[in-house]
Amino acid sequence: MRKLLVFIFPLMLFSCNGNAQKNDKASQEYEVTKTDAQWKAELSEGQYRILRKGDTERAFTSPLNDIKEPGTFVCAACGNPLYKTKYKFDSGTGWPSFDRPIEDAVSYGRNTSFGYEDNEVHCARCGGHLGHVFEDGPRNTTGERHCINGLAMEFIPEGE
Ligand SMILES: [Zn+2]
Repeated sequence: MRKLLVFIFPLMLFSCNGNAQKNDKASQEYEVTKTDAQWKAELSEGQYRILRKGDTERAFTSPLNDIKEPGTFVCAACGNPLYKTKYKFDSGTGWPSFDRPIEDAVSYGRNTSFGYEDNEVHCARCGGHLGHVFEDGPRNTTGERHCINGLAMEFIPEGE
């Protein structure tokens, strides 16, 4: 019996360990990962607060609100293409709003390392906090409203 335990015990350890590693990886599996100090040095103060600390900019402050020309909104932290002007609509909220993201560009939900809420939207490449998604968007398209901080994005006009 004692011999059997000797075999079982290491196996249990191994399997617990395996799970722990998997969980760690899930929170860090972004293609772009940097330390907090690196992000702080690279981003403006406002960008850092929103992208890395989950803050929200004041409504009607982003110049990206008014953009109507064709182009792509990319992540201000890592350059990942997130949204297109053709997905943008005037929600009247004071934040750039889109009815859908570029496919696979964003991920949703809780990231315990950031303290995300369930409806939070973040960049699928670097994990940066972008904004929130709501279900009161245009009913003639997706019904989704991606309410995104302008400071979390940069606009690249089509052809550039
Ligand atoms: Zn990003």
